[in-house]
Amino acid sequence: MVPYLDLTRQYQAIKDEVDAAIEGVLSRGWFILGEEVAAFEEEFARYIGAPYAVGVGTGTAALHVTLLALGVGPGDEVVTVPNTALATASAISLTGATPTFADIDPQSYNMDPHRLEAAITPRTRAIIPVHLFGQSADMDPILDIAHRHNIPVLEDACQAHGAEYKGVKVGNFGDAAAFSFYPTKNLGAYGDGGMVVTRRQDIAEQVRLLRNLGQRDRYHHAMPGTNSRLDELQAAILRVKLRHLDEGNAARREGAALYDQLLAGCNVVTPKEMAYGRHVYHLYVAQSHDRDALRSHLDAHGVGTLVHYPLPIHLQEAYRTLGLGPGSFPVAEEFARRILSIPLYPEIRSEEIAEVCRIITTFA
Ligand SMILES: *Cc1c(COP(=O)(O)O)cnc(C)c1O
Repeated sequence: MVPYLDLTRQYQAIKDEVDAAIEGVLSRGWFILGEEVAAFEEEFARYIGAPYAVGVGTGTAALHVTLLALGVGPGDEVVTVPNTALATASAISLTGATPTFADIDPQSYNMDPHRLEAAITPRTRAIIPVHLFGQSADMDPILDIAHRHNIPVLEDACQAHGAEYKGVKVGNFGDAAAFSFYPTKNLGAYGDGGMVVTRRQDIAEQVRLLRNLGQRDRYHHAMPGTNSRLDELQAAILRVKLRHLDEGNAARREGAALYDQLLAGCNVVTPKEMAYGRHVYHLYVAQSHDRDALRSHLDAHGVGTLVHYPLPIHLQEAYRTLGLGPGSFPVAEEFARRILSIPLYPEIRSEEIAEVCRIITTFA
């Protein structure tokens, strides 16, 4: 039996540090926007290499409030990709704007810069490239097009803590970036959490207000806002886990390299690390022309798998009103039929990877 993911292994490995951090918060008795959140914001900003980081409740909220800070609202359009977590599109919709899409590049699984320009209209107010599965989108040509049209860029870095593009960590390229600390992410809380990272002071200030009901000083509100705050317990836990992020990402890369090696010559397509960047393998996503049968085969042999994501955004019931039927984004649609996420996380054992590969081999 190889589980898709087992989060208890990491906890067991760092239990003493985590328990001490939790105990510290509980004994201080201060739970919202305190010293842990402030310290974690500073440490995460330093880790990414950006001047500002503002903790929020979720990755979805990080995207949402940043779009609001950029002035996105009803009647506007925001371009993203069709093969992302629904949260990316949902954050756009929550502002009143409409998501539009650029199809993806079949090598990187990320936004195809060649298709971006055609997706831009006079109503486009932001572009959200997603660093999907832990690999950076090709930022230079995307930023080029964005600058030419004077459109801000918001990086969806929810799956890419520590990933690099041309030697620089993602989160430094757009006007701002959104990170998620959902428990399964490369840097995961024991609950929900998110962060906006930016080098624009104006965005950082707006997000600070928006996350906390527009409150500037106690009970004095500069604007209406939402309630989406990272809490002290999660921040304390995330401070501990941030210290282990690089070693976790390195372990993911080793696991991915082992999969690449053992699956070479098999009847599956392994993910490609683009020459421009450093992949942190949030997920290891292989492709098979007989995906559903392969998935059943693995399941029958006790190997957990998932599909990220089986239905592109434009084909979801939630977005039926966009009127974008099958065939609108053929690369993303074909990709959705072929992809399979197989077990990869820092604590997976090499014998487990070998076992998964052996079972794939008996299928292919
Ligand atoms: C996880 C994720 C989000 C949303 O983050 P939450 O913290 O779950 O709200 C957004 N975009 C992508 C690409 C994600 O993977």
